[in-house]
Amino acid sequence: MKWLSLYPDEHIYSGLIRYRIRMGQGVMSDKRFFSHNGLPYQWFRSQVPLNHLMRETLDIITPEPDKQFALRLNHTPFAPWLLSLPGSMAPHELKEASHRPNTEENPFQVDRRWKYCPNCMQIHKAKFGVSYWRATHQLPGALICEEHGTPLHSHDELRYLAFKLPHHYLHKSQALVLEANWQHDWQSFIYRMSRQLQSNPEWARNVAHCMKSYLGLERVIKHTHRVRFGGFFECMKEDLGQDCLAGLFTRFARGNGRQPNILWLTLSGYSQGKGLRHPLYWLACLFWLRSALPELAFLHEHRSDHGS
Ligand SMILES: [Zn+2]
Repeated sequence: MKWLSLYPDEHIYSGLIRYRIRMGQGVMSDKRFFSHNGLPYQWFRSQVPLNHLMRETLDIITPEPDKQFALRLNHTPFAPWLLSLPGSMAPHELKEASHRPNTEENPFQVDRRWKYCPNCMQIHKAKFGVSYWRATHQLPGALICEEHGTPLHSHDELRYLAFKLPHHYLHKSQALVLEANWQHDWQSFIYRMSRQLQSNPEWARNVAHCMKSYLGLERVIKHTHRVRFGGFFECMKEDLGQDCLAGLFTRFARGNGRQPNILWLTLSGYSQGKGLRHPLYWLACLFWLRSALPELAFLHEHRSDHGS
């Protein structure tokens, strides 16, 4: 594939849409476009950087693992997945989550539609002549543009991306609303966490240990520790609030049935089931401890480069 270079923070699928236009493949049917380029015929989803379509897309762009890793890290909302990296694995080896397609996002409440910032869009149009989808605007729970501090926009059609760039939605999209208090704090949290992981992909390796040591837990968790986890999780629920857990996890949003102990599921390593623990589990726990863990000091630092 004669791939084109991506703009800063441009999502890979946004590049694929521009590629199709550039190559004059817009006249083909969608199905034909995918088969012509050796890709599986699948919807573009905003928050699944480890799925089959993304792997195949990266494979046709470049065969080199390092380049694939850099593309995934800087051009999809992949960075939080590094929190889920198994200890035995190098960051660039993380290529799949082994979840069943289409059901992997069901346990989560965050808005999965594609989002864009109208201000960024105008700037990109002026600077590059096109608008494009930014990867970091697709981070779970992102509702504002970090650069402009203004709400991101979305539209119900944007559950999947139908080969359209953001400017197509300019006059029909709606601004996202920050409904709950926790969402305000989540904005800088998710952007800064992502940036931390992008600049140091190995950083997450120590996160579980830091959390355990702060909570006074042993390195190896045993089933008998579950009672203590029960107590910790009561604190976590109290501190985060029901709105926050309901905004992240479907089981809490429904308000009936058993509510899983998120801290236990994240830290114990048990009940892993098939596939990786989704990063939202890790993010929820870190969000809880964001003011407590010294390793998270970067979340509170003043950014002198902000807006530059
Ligand atoms: Zn913006």
